[in-house]
Amino acid sequence: MPNLEIITIGTELLLGEITDTNSTYIARTLRDHGIDIFRITTIGDNPNRIASAINEALQRADIVITTGGLGPTVDDPTRLAVANATHRDLVFEPELWEDILLRFKAYGRVPTENNRRQAFIPKGALPIKNPVGTAPCFIVEMGQACVISLPGVPQEMEYLLHRAVIPFLSDKFVLKTQIIKATVLHTASMGESMIDEVIGDLEQRSNPTVGLLAHPGQVDIRVTVK
Ligand code: ATP
Repeated sequence: MPNLEIITIGTELLLGEITDTNSTYIARTLRDHGIDIFRITTIGDNPNRIASAINEALQRADIVITTGGLGPTVDDPTRLAVANATHRDLVFEPELWEDILLRFKAYGRVPTENNRRQAFIPKGALPIKNPVGTAPCFIVEMGQACVISLPGVPQEMEYLLHRAVIPFLSDKFVLKTQIIKATVLHTASMGESMIDEVIGDLEQRSNPTVGLLAHPGQVDIRVTVK
């Protein structure tokens, strides 16, 4: 069963200006394909910090997915960070540039010179065209491991996750040898510690795992099975 780490990129996420919904979407979707999620990290728009987060994630995970930071501006750092983390140069992909030009034409807009930046991807990476936006994406494969960079805009990310990423992962790994299912039992009028006393032995198990989540007036018991 391959395991995954997700890195969401964007200073606006760190400043609390927007809520990270990309990682929850990716985690839920890939969990249902039998992929283990080990860690979710958020990093600001800083290429060095992103590169070191990717390097660290690659020590532990088979699959690293990043979202965000693929726009045309100088503070869109993901391309450079992935290139540095995987020890590659950034190279211009004429086909991606053609695709960006077509997309702009369809929107009745003229690309700026900045948009050319989006046609650069790490050398040897597999380009992923983005028919629902202008930021192309890419996958860098390193033996058994891979880094997959997706756009930040949730609708674009979700589209490419289903159209490009899941087919790629299904080819590369044997998926669905195990799947993960979770269910939540809601309880009322019993405190967390009372429930813990009753089902403490179940909470020690590794499969299924049983965890408690306290809310005002209610305690949820989450049962997750592989
Ligand atoms: P594009 O070039 O299409 O803008 P991008 O990869 O550069 O793509 P970002 O600029 O990082 O994407 O983010 C674009 C927008 O997507 C953000 O302003 C925010 O609204 C949304 N977004 C980014 N990351 C996330 C996230 N983790 N969860 C939810 N929304 C996000």
